[in-house]
Amino acid sequence: MYRTHTCGELTIKDTAKNVTLCGWVQKSRDLGGMTFVDLRDRYGITQLVFNMEADHELCGQARKLGREFVVQASGKVRERSNKNMKIPTGEIEIEVSRLVILNRSELPPFTIEEETDGGEELRMKYRYLDLRRSSVKNNILLRHKVSQEVRKYMDSIGFVEVETPVLIKSTPEGARDFVVPSRMQPGTFYALPQSPQTLKQLLMVAGFDKYFQIVKCFRDEDLRADRQPEFSQIDCEMSFVERDDILDTFEGLAKYLFRQIRGVEFNEPFNRLPYSEAMANYGSDKPDLRFGMKFKEITTTVKGHGFQVFDGAEYIGGICAEGCADYSRKQLDELTDFVKRPQIGAKGMVYLKCGADGLKSSADKFYPPEELKKWAAAINAKEGDLVLILAGERHKTLTALSELRLEMGNRLGLRKKDTFVPLWVVDFPLLEWDEETKRYYAMHHPFTSPKPEDIHLMESDPGKVRANAYDLVINGVEIGGGSIRIHDASVQKLMFKVLGFTDEEANLQFGFLLNAFKYGAPPHGGIAFGFDRWVAMFGGQDSIRDFIAFPKNNSGRDVMLDTPAEISDQQLNELMIEIKKKDK
Ligand code: ASP
Repeated sequence: MYRTHTCGELTIKDTAKNVTLCGWVQKSRDLGGMTFVDLRDRYGITQLVFNMEADHELCGQARKLGREFVVQASGKVRERSNKNMKIPTGEIEIEVSRLVILNRSELPPFTIEEETDGGEELRMKYRYLDLRRSSVKNNILLRHKVSQEVRKYMDSIGFVEVETPVLIKSTPEGARDFVVPSRMQPGTFYALPQSPQTLKQLLMVAGFDKYFQIVKCFRDEDLRADRQPEFSQIDCEMSFVERDDILDTFEGLAKYLFRQIRGVEFNEPFNRLPYSEAMANYGSDKPDLRFGMKFKEITTTVKGHGFQVFDGAEYIGGICAEGCADYSRKQLDELTDFVKRPQIGAKGMVYLKCGADGLKSSADKFYPPEELKKWAAAINAKEGDLVLILAGERHKTLTALSELRLEMGNRLGLRKKDTFVPLWVVDFPLLEWDEETKRYYAMHHPFTSPKPEDIHLMESDPGKVRANAYDLVINGVEIGGGSIRIHDASVQKLMFKVLGFTDEEANLQFGFLLNAFKYGAPPHGGIAFGFDRWVAMFGGQDSIRDFIAFPKNNSGRDVMLDTPAEISDQQLNELMIEIKKKDK
């Protein structure tokens, strides 16, 4: 038997027991007569002690232990004189009588402790060492716990976990596919699923009624910060449901997970906010509702006073930062610089300070005090408040104001890490116009159902059609999204038409689905949650990377496996693939 206990379980109650532990040497301290070794495994750290006087040879052996050596140590549990109350095993130590080196280790390239000297790239290259650090390890354990809880809950309400294939045909989720060449049929390719969307719909046709899966999805996108080319979803689909059945079901899942994982109770139903209101009030389809600071549109209130910035604007709106009337010139300049950054793209910012000594604005050349009073009234600003105003083209200005609102939320400490405010954003537009290609794209995907009351606009005014689609948003992060699907062949046909697909093209790409729909497709709908992101949120962090055991870096590389990599000529020949070598 290698061990009687783990390094995380012995406490004062075990005093005088004879035990054997195995683990890695985190650190050893040599204090002349005594040598102390911190032994680590997944469960914790236990202190080993070697006494020079008691056993000269054994102590000599202990002194030679290097960091990350794998050892087996036997001895007696005893109370420590110097207790560490921060860890569960901190009141005891093992007085070692036998030590076996199970394996040696080279000097690790960085210190494997909470405070590490390893940079990001180095830790990624040696991820298996990084995973020994308790913060990263705990994230992976949290992920395990969340996935177990998801399965428990979904099973308890009758969902069946079904695995769908990884080698499939292109699924349209708006990104590029990763493809895998076929050796048996040279010149043809599988695609890795961007999501199991079509397959889960086929499971509904098959009559499974309630499906879920924690599943890998692959999207070959230009990587933005904190995106992974492969990521996991909690993917779900249900039959014979309307939108609210789905929202209720998954609100149940969300509440259950928050209770089990974070001990947070939500007693009220989640707010359901139409997309149009989310945009008008917060300039975003994923508003952070941990704080208010709703937008107020003041376009008609302020136009017509010769101030070109306002007079030429399609939209003028402001937010009210309570109690910020004493912002300094420097602070206001910082905010102006913030909104003028290219990513945000505002031309400038107008402010209105509601000070005790009256109203003061950066545009008061054009606006006498009684006009400024009208602004303050329109935005509900009171004495002590600061109003920040942006103006310009409607959509761009709303988006910029949204960024400014979030920035003010940060500055005022209103975005608290352990407050969670979930909401459903509903009634998304069905279609999105793309200026470049001059055509409409499905905002969610082509199987999303329009709202029945909007179907008549599909051909006359497609941009106005609302989808029966929804997102779960928590603290400004999109955690999940889904829709009621089209199950009626004529509506699907219409959808493809609006998207510019000919019947032939639609059949070529989605024939299997359209065909299946001829055999009794039930009304159905579903949702998928970003599993990595949700786990990261439960773990109180923004970045998903440390919640994935072996993630890729920001350029999509696995620096540990050193991939993507070239393959051999033999492999290429078998696949009948010729690589165009770049000119040297
Ligand atoms: N397949 C969709 C996605 O990955 C989710 C859904 O509609 O269920 O976003």
